[in-house]
Amino acid sequence: MLLFTRPAEPSDFAKKVKAAKEHVAAAVNEGRPLDSKHDFDSIWSQFKDLFSQAQKGKCGFCERDVRTCFGGDVEHYRPKNGIEELPPDEADRGLEDEFTGKLRRKRNLSDAFKSGYWWLAYEWSNYLVACPRCNRTWKRCLFPIAEARTKKPDPEDAETPLLLNPFGPEDPTQHLAYDEFGQITPRDKSARGRATIETCGFGPTPLFSTSAAHCRRRSQPAR
Ligand SMILES: [Zn+2]
Repeated sequence: MLLFTRPAEPSDFAKKVKAAKEHVAAAVNEGRPLDSKHDFDSIWSQFKDLFSQAQKGKCGFCERDVRTCFGGDVEHYRPKNGIEELPPDEADRGLEDEFTGKLRRKRNLSDAFKSGYWWLAYEWSNYLVACPRCNRTWKRCLFPIAEARTKKPDPEDAETPLLLNPFGPEDPTQHLAYDEFGQITPRDKSARGRATIETCGFGPTPLFSTSAAHCRRRSQPAR
C-alpha cells in the first residue's frame, strides 16, 4: 500500500453530483432507509480514470494492477450506506487461494448499522480506486475507528480512522512492513497497520505454515 497524491477535484464535479447528493439528503430528511442500488447514483464512476492515473494504475489498498480488471471500482473510503464489522473469530474472516484467488473460506462480516456515511457519498475526498477483490470481497463496508462504535455514523461525530488511506495524510508504508515472502505485518505494532491488514485481508495467516500452505490470506502482489 503506497501513498499517492489525490487528483485535483474537477471544476464541474460539484455540478455533476448536485442532484444525486440532494436526492440522498432528501431521503435521509424524510427518514427513509437508503437503498444502495436505487438511492445512490453511481456518477462517481465518471471520475475513475482520474483516480486510476493518480494511483499509477494500482489498487489503493493492495496495489494490484486495476488495468487488468476493467479499471477497478471507485471505492468510498468511508462506506456510504451501512457499516459492517469483522467477526471475532479469525477463522471467519476469509481465506483466499494463493494461486486462483478463489475464496477457500467465506468472509462472514456482520451488519453493525444499516446507515453509513451517506453525506460523503459525493465527496471527492472520500474516493479512491480499488480492485474488485478489495472493494467487493474484503473491505466492503468495513471502516474501523479507534473509538468504540456504538451508533450509526453522524456528521457531527469526531472519530479517529484506523484504516489507512492511499491519499494520506499518513504514509501507509510507515504502518506496514513487508517481509521477503510478501507477507505484510504491522510496522512497529501500528494499530492502523493492523486494522488495515484486517480490513483488507492481506495479513499473514497461521495456516501458512501448515499443511494448508497453499491457502493463505492475501499477500502483497508482485510489484
Ligand atoms: Zn485491491
